[in-house]
Amino acid sequence: MTKKLIPLIAANWKMHGDMSWAQKPVELDAAFPIAEREHLELLICPPFPLLPALHVVAGPLNIRVGAQNCHSEIKGAHTGEVSAELLADAGADYVIVGHSERRASGETDQNVHDKAVAANRADLIPIICVGESLEQREAGDAIKVVADQLNKSVPDIEDYVIAYEPIWAIGTGKIPTMDDISDMHHAIRKRVGQDIRILYGGSVKPGNASEILAVPNVNGALIGGASLEMDSLAAIAKAAS
Ligand code: PEP
Repeated sequence: MTKKLIPLIAANWKMHGDMSWAQKPVELDAAFPIAEREHLELLICPPFPLLPALHVVAGPLNIRVGAQNCHSEIKGAHTGEVSAELLADAGADYVIVGHSERRASGETDQNVHDKAVAANRADLIPIICVGESLEQREAGDAIKVVADQLNKSVPDIEDYVIAYEPIWAIGTGKIPTMDDISDMHHAIRKRVGQDIRILYGGSVKPGNASEILAVPNVNGALIGGASLEMDSLAAIAKAAS
Protein backbone atom coordinates (compact mmCIF):
# COMPACT_ATOMS: atom_id res chain seq x y z
CA MET A 1 0.00 0.00 0.00
CA THR A 2 1.22 3.50 -0.81
CA LYS A 3 1.69 5.68 2.25
CA LYS A 4 0.59 9.31 2.12
CA LEU A 5 3.68 11.48 2.00
CA ILE A 6 3.58 14.45 4.38
CA PRO A 7 4.76 17.54 2.46
CA LEU A 8 8.15 18.91 3.44
CA ILE A 9 8.83 22.64 3.19
CA ALA A 10 12.56 23.12 3.56
CA ALA A 11 14.31 26.47 3.90
CA ASN A 12 17.89 26.70 2.68
CA TRP A 13 19.31 29.86 4.25
CA LYS A 14 22.64 29.37 2.46
CA MET A 15 25.25 31.86 3.78
CA HIS A 16 22.74 34.28 5.29
CA GLY A 17 21.90 35.30 8.83
CA ASP A 18 23.52 35.99 12.17
CA MET A 19 22.97 34.52 15.63
CA SER A 20 19.82 36.63 16.13
CA TRP A 21 18.22 34.50 13.40
CA ALA A 22 17.87 31.71 15.97
CA GLN A 23 14.64 33.54 16.93
CA LYS A 24 13.18 33.41 13.40
CA PRO A 25 11.05 30.33 14.20
CA VAL A 26 9.06 32.54 16.61
CA GLU A 27 8.26 34.87 13.69
CA LEU A 28 7.45 31.91 11.48
CA ASP A 29 5.12 30.46 14.08
CA ALA A 30 3.37 33.82 14.45
CA ALA A 31 2.75 33.88 10.69
CA PHE A 32 1.74 30.20 10.54
CA PRO A 33 0.87 28.83 14.00
CA ILE A 34 1.74 25.31 15.06
CA ALA A 35 -1.93 24.26 15.39
CA GLU A 36 -2.44 24.86 11.65
CA ARG A 37 0.66 22.92 10.60
CA GLU A 38 -0.33 19.36 11.48
CA HIS A 39 -0.14 17.95 7.97
CA LEU A 40 3.14 19.46 7.03
CA GLU A 41 6.78 19.26 8.01
CA LEU A 42 8.72 22.53 8.25
CA LEU A 43 12.50 22.52 8.12
CA ILE A 44 15.13 25.27 8.32
CA CYS A 45 18.70 24.63 7.20
CA PRO A 46 20.86 27.50 8.54
CA PRO A 47 24.64 28.00 8.40
CA PHE A 48 26.38 25.60 10.84
CA PRO A 49 26.94 27.90 13.86
CA LEU A 50 23.22 28.68 14.11
CA LEU A 51 22.15 25.03 14.37
CA PRO A 52 22.15 24.43 18.15
CA ALA A 53 20.52 27.77 19.06
CA LEU A 54 17.97 27.47 16.28
CA HIS A 55 17.15 23.92 17.37
CA VAL A 56 16.39 25.11 20.92
CA VAL A 57 13.87 27.67 19.62
CA ALA A 58 12.46 25.64 16.70
CA GLY A 59 12.02 22.27 18.45
CA PRO A 60 9.09 23.25 20.72
CA LEU A 61 7.41 24.93 17.73
CA ASN A 62 7.58 21.66 15.77
CA ILE A 63 9.99 23.13 13.24
CA ARG A 64 12.93 20.91 12.35
CA VAL A 65 16.46 22.01 11.65
CA GLY A 66 18.98 20.65 9.21
CA ALA A 67 22.41 21.39 7.77
CA GLN A 68 23.50 22.35 4.27
CA ASN A 69 26.42 19.93 3.94
CA CYS A 70 28.39 17.29 5.84
CA HIS A 71 31.60 15.30 5.48
CA SER A 72 31.47 11.60 4.67
CA GLU A 73 33.75 10.49 7.50
CA ILE A 74 33.04 10.36 11.24
CA LYS A 75 36.18 12.28 12.26
CA GLY A 76 39.71 13.04 11.17
CA ALA A 77 42.11 15.59 9.80
CA HIS A 78 39.61 17.44 7.61
CA THR A 79 40.02 21.11 8.40
CA GLY A 80 36.83 23.10 7.98
CA GLU A 81 34.59 20.06 7.65
CA VAL A 82 31.75 18.83 9.89
CA SER A 83 30.67 15.23 10.42
CA ALA A 84 27.07 14.07 10.12
CA GLU A 85 27.35 12.76 13.69
CA LEU A 86 28.19 16.24 15.04
CA LEU A 87 25.29 17.74 13.11
CA ALA A 88 22.93 15.23 14.69
CA ASP A 89 24.40 16.05 18.07
CA ALA A 90 23.77 19.76 17.39
CA GLY A 91 20.08 19.08 16.77
CA ALA A 92 19.85 18.45 13.03
CA ASP A 93 17.37 15.94 11.61
CA TYR A 94 18.22 16.52 7.96
CA VAL A 95 21.20 17.46 5.84
CA ILE A 96 21.20 18.80 2.27
CA VAL A 97 23.77 17.02 0.11
CA GLY A 98 24.81 17.73 -3.49
CA HIS A 99 23.33 21.21 -3.79
CA SER A 100 24.24 22.54 -7.25
CA GLU A 101 26.22 25.38 -5.66
CA ARG A 102 28.46 22.71 -4.10
CA ARG A 103 28.52 20.51 -7.19
CA ALA A 104 29.66 23.61 -9.11
CA SER A 105 32.69 23.86 -6.86
CA GLY A 106 33.77 20.29 -7.51
CA GLU A 107 31.49 17.97 -5.54
CA THR A 108 31.00 14.76 -7.54
CA ASP A 109 28.13 12.26 -7.60
CA GLN A 110 30.39 9.89 -5.65
CA ASN A 111 30.97 12.57 -2.97
CA VAL A 112 27.22 13.14 -2.77
CA HIS A 113 26.61 9.40 -2.47
CA ASP A 114 29.17 9.10 0.34
CA LYS A 115 27.69 12.08 2.21
CA ALA A 116 24.21 10.55 1.97
CA VAL A 117 25.61 7.29 3.40
CA ALA A 118 27.20 9.30 6.24
CA ALA A 119 23.92 11.08 6.94
CA ASN A 120 22.11 7.76 7.15
CA ARG A 121 24.82 6.39 9.46
CA ALA A 122 24.23 9.36 11.80
CA ASP A 123 20.43 8.98 11.67
CA LEU A 124 20.03 12.13 9.61
CA ILE A 125 17.80 12.18 6.55
CA PRO A 126 19.77 13.33 3.50
CA ILE A 127 18.08 15.68 1.04
CA ILE A 128 19.86 14.68 -2.15
CA CYS A 129 19.84 17.45 -4.77
CA VAL A 130 19.77 16.79 -8.50
CA GLY A 131 19.07 18.99 -11.50
CA GLU A 132 20.12 19.89 -15.01
CA SER A 133 21.80 22.97 -16.46
CA LEU A 134 20.07 25.21 -19.00
CA GLU A 135 22.22 23.76 -21.80
CA GLN A 136 21.22 20.25 -20.83
CA ARG A 137 17.54 21.21 -20.72
CA GLU A 138 17.73 22.94 -24.09
CA ALA A 139 19.44 19.90 -25.58
CA GLY A 140 16.51 17.76 -24.41
CA ASP A 141 18.70 15.86 -21.97
CA ALA A 142 17.21 16.96 -18.62
CA ILE A 143 15.57 13.66 -17.68
CA LYS A 144 18.61 11.65 -18.78
CA VAL A 145 20.99 13.88 -16.79
CA VAL A 146 18.89 13.63 -13.63
CA ALA A 147 18.52 9.85 -14.03
CA ASP A 148 22.30 9.58 -14.22
CA GLN A 149 22.73 11.75 -11.09
CA LEU A 150 20.19 9.60 -9.24
CA ASN A 151 21.94 6.40 -10.26
CA LYS A 152 25.29 7.67 -9.03
CA SER A 153 24.32 9.82 -6.00
CA VAL A 154 21.57 7.86 -4.27
CA PRO A 155 22.90 5.08 -2.05
CA ASP A 156 21.01 1.97 -1.07
CA ILE A 157 19.35 3.46 2.02
CA GLU A 158 15.70 3.55 3.05
CA ASP A 159 15.09 7.09 4.21
CA TYR A 160 16.03 10.02 2.06
CA VAL A 161 14.47 12.95 0.19
CA ILE A 162 15.17 14.01 -3.39
CA ALA A 163 15.21 17.70 -4.29
CA TYR A 164 14.85 18.33 -8.01
CA GLU A 165 16.40 21.74 -8.59
CA PRO A 166 16.99 22.82 -12.20
CA ILE A 167 20.22 24.81 -11.90
CA TRP A 168 18.95 27.54 -14.21
CA ALA A 169 15.92 28.12 -11.95
CA ILE A 170 17.89 28.68 -8.75
CA GLY A 171 17.86 32.32 -7.71
CA THR A 172 16.84 33.50 -11.19
CA GLY A 173 13.07 33.93 -10.91
CA LYS A 174 12.68 31.46 -13.79
CA ILE A 175 10.79 28.20 -13.35
CA PRO A 176 10.08 25.27 -15.67
CA THR A 177 6.57 24.78 -17.04
CA MET A 178 4.28 22.75 -14.80
CA ASP A 179 4.33 20.03 -17.47
CA ASP A 180 8.12 19.89 -17.33
CA ILE A 181 8.07 19.68 -13.52
CA SER A 182 5.45 16.95 -13.75
CA ASP A 183 7.43 14.94 -16.31
CA MET A 184 10.62 15.19 -14.26
CA HIS A 185 8.97 14.27 -10.96
CA HIS A 186 7.21 11.36 -12.65
CA ALA A 187 10.55 10.09 -13.96
CA ILE A 188 12.12 10.47 -10.50
CA ARG A 189 9.14 8.73 -8.88
CA LYS A 190 9.64 5.72 -11.15
CA ARG A 191 13.24 5.48 -9.98
CA VAL A 192 12.78 6.04 -6.22
CA GLY A 193 9.42 4.36 -5.54
CA GLN A 194 6.31 5.54 -3.71
CA ASP A 195 7.72 6.17 -0.23
CA ILE A 196 10.28 8.88 -1.01
CA ARG A 197 9.43 12.57 -0.97
CA ILE A 198 10.45 14.52 -4.06
CA LEU A 199 10.80 18.26 -3.53
CA TYR A 200 10.91 20.90 -6.23
CA GLY A 201 13.42 23.73 -5.77
CA GLY A 202 14.24 26.80 -7.87
CA SER A 203 12.60 30.24 -7.51
CA VAL A 204 9.65 29.00 -5.43
CA LYS A 205 7.82 32.11 -4.20
CA PRO A 206 4.48 32.81 -2.50
CA GLY A 207 3.04 33.68 -5.93
CA ASN A 208 3.88 30.37 -7.64
CA ALA A 209 3.92 27.92 -4.73
CA SER A 210 0.30 26.72 -4.98
CA GLU A 211 0.64 25.89 -8.64
CA ILE A 212 3.96 24.08 -8.21
CA LEU A 213 2.91 22.18 -5.09
CA ALA A 214 -0.23 20.94 -6.86
CA VAL A 215 1.82 19.16 -9.55
CA PRO A 216 1.61 15.36 -9.18
CA ASN A 217 4.60 13.84 -7.37
CA VAL A 218 5.71 17.17 -5.91
CA ASN A 219 5.87 16.48 -2.18
CA GLY A 220 7.18 19.81 -1.00
CA ALA A 221 9.76 22.45 -1.84
CA LEU A 222 13.34 23.47 -1.15
CA ILE A 223 13.42 27.24 -0.93
CA GLY A 224 16.36 29.62 -1.01
CA GLY A 225 15.71 33.35 -1.40
CA ALA A 226 12.06 33.31 -0.35
CA SER A 227 12.91 31.46 2.87
CA LEU A 228 14.82 34.41 4.33
CA GLU A 229 11.61 36.34 5.13
CA MET A 230 9.36 34.45 7.52
CA ASP A 231 6.18 35.92 5.99
CA SER A 232 7.04 34.56 2.57
CA LEU A 233 8.21 31.20 3.95
CA ALA A 234 4.92 30.97 5.86
CA ALA A 235 2.92 31.81 2.74
CA ILE A 236 4.68 29.04 0.79
CA ALA A 237 4.14 26.58 3.64
CA LYS A 238 0.44 27.44 3.78
CA ALA A 239 0.20 26.63 0.09
CA ALA A 240 1.50 23.14 0.88
CA SER A 241 -0.81 22.35 3.76
C1 PEP B 1 18.17 26.71 -3.64
O1 PEP B 1 19.26 27.24 -3.74
O2 PEP B 1 18.06 25.57 -3.13
C2 PEP B 1 17.00 27.43 -4.13
C3 PEP B 1 15.94 26.75 -4.44
O3 PEP B 1 17.12 28.80 -4.23
P1 PEP B 1 15.99 29.85 -4.72
O4 PEP B 1 14.70 29.46 -4.05
O5 PEP B 1 16.49 31.17 -4.28
O6 PEP B 1 15.89 29.69 -6.20
